Amino acid sequence: MTAAFPEPGRLRDEVRAFLRDRHIRPHCDAWMTSFDPEFSRALGERGWIGMTWPGRYGGGDRPERERLVVIEELLAAGAPVAAHWFADRQIGPGLLRHGSQEQRTRYLPAITRGECFFAIGMSEPDSGSDLASIRTTARKTGSGWRVNGRKVWTSHAGQAHHLLALVRTSTPDPQRRQAGLSQLIIDLSTPGVEVRPIRSLDGHCHFNEVTLDDADVPDGALLGSEGAGWQQVTAELAYERSGPERFLSTAPLLWELARRRPPGSDPQIGALIAELQALRAMSAGIADALQRGEAPALEAATVKDLGARFEAKIVDTVRDLLEVEPALDATDDLARLLAEAVVHRPGGTLRGGSTEILRGIIARGLVAP
Ligand SMILES: Cc1cc2nc3c(=O)[nH]c(=O)nc-3n(C[C@H](O)[C@H](O)[C@H](O)COP(=O)(O)OP(=O)(O)OC[C@H]3O[C@@H](n4cnc5c(N)ncnc54)[C@H](O)[C@@H]3O)c2cc1C
Repeated sequence: MTAAFPEPGRLRDEVRAFLRDRHIRPHCDAWMTSFDPEFSRALGERGWIGMTWPGRYGGGDRPERERLVVIEELLAAGAPVAAHWFADRQIGPGLLRHGSQEQRTRYLPAITRGECFFAIGMSEPDSGSDLASIRTTARKTGSGWRVNGRKVWTSHAGQAHHLLALVRTSTPDPQRRQAGLSQLIIDLSTPGVEVRPIRSLDGHCHFNEVTLDDADVPDGALLGSEGAGWQQVTAELAYERSGPERFLSTAPLLWELARRRPPGSDPQIGALIAELQALRAMSAGIADALQRGEAPALEAATVKDLGARFEAKIVDTVRDLLEVEPALDATDDLARLLAEAVVHRPGGTLRGGSTEILRGIIARGLVAP
């Protein structure tokens, strides 16, 4: 059901036809949990990964708005896009902005083909919201960097090829904790890198703990400038927080609700659809700002926070209006999707920046824009 996206368009129709042919079984949070390399390769063949990147790096040279159409439809269908999601959303733009020529030609075309997957290595056991407190170190060697430390909650590190890790490359200065951080692209098959799965409530193991024990990576692994990791990561977060996955993770459940209680039959459903349209407009505005080269951090934090609240409201509305017992193994789609949404609900208020942290950013931005 895609009635919430009424705009006509050839590209939208193409994506819908592609999805229909593949008989997707929708899942809530599929962009985070459903890892399917074959599906990613099929998207790559159609030019739907790296759509906005320059053609010389395998990209499609297309506007952000077209990418938005494709990812909205994929999310609305609950399609298995997790394999390439991080690389398409933020690693690629980071490489285009800060990467060396060698890094761009090595990684970007492979990402666009759906053959090169990245995991994000920011969080550590005692460093989530307070990211500047990370303790993973990288020390200079004759030929590169020796990395030691531990990353946690690393989505899909067990299946990805590379980890973009935030590391400390110089001794922390208590007055300037954000200084001395750098980003390294670490091949996850490097000796000294160990990935251990962490089982979550739904029984899946998309989370991992990554231990780096004297892992030697080459000089060419440094992304951007040594010591500029904080600024680079902060820029990445605008891409990470503003996309439609922040309010469409639970879309398959919303569609299921609308199927059983058509819009118009209850004002609560009408209110959800109206809110969805407002969030789409905000997210599209941010995509335009990113295309203009701006860094809309406050706006992105706003979309993420409103999106998490919206997702929770979908679950509450289903419970208000329908008699259904959530069960992850139910054959009934409504019961299954509700269970997925309930289990993942707390994650939406944490991943990509917790609710309290986002509201702090918004409050500071509003007081001193
Ligand atoms: C589904 C999911 C996927 C994830 N994937 C990845 C990934 O791929 N890579 C990665 O690096 N990380 C990942 N994370 C980790 C995520 O980035 C962290 O969970 C997040 O940054 C919060 O950090 P934390 O879990 O350490 O919680 P904490 O920072 O310990 O926060 C705990 C609670 O305290 C509150 N709090 C903390 N500081 C303050 C403060 N100053 N003021 C007010 N309240 C505060 C928070 O809002 C939160 O409610 C993922 C998390 C989830 C849930």
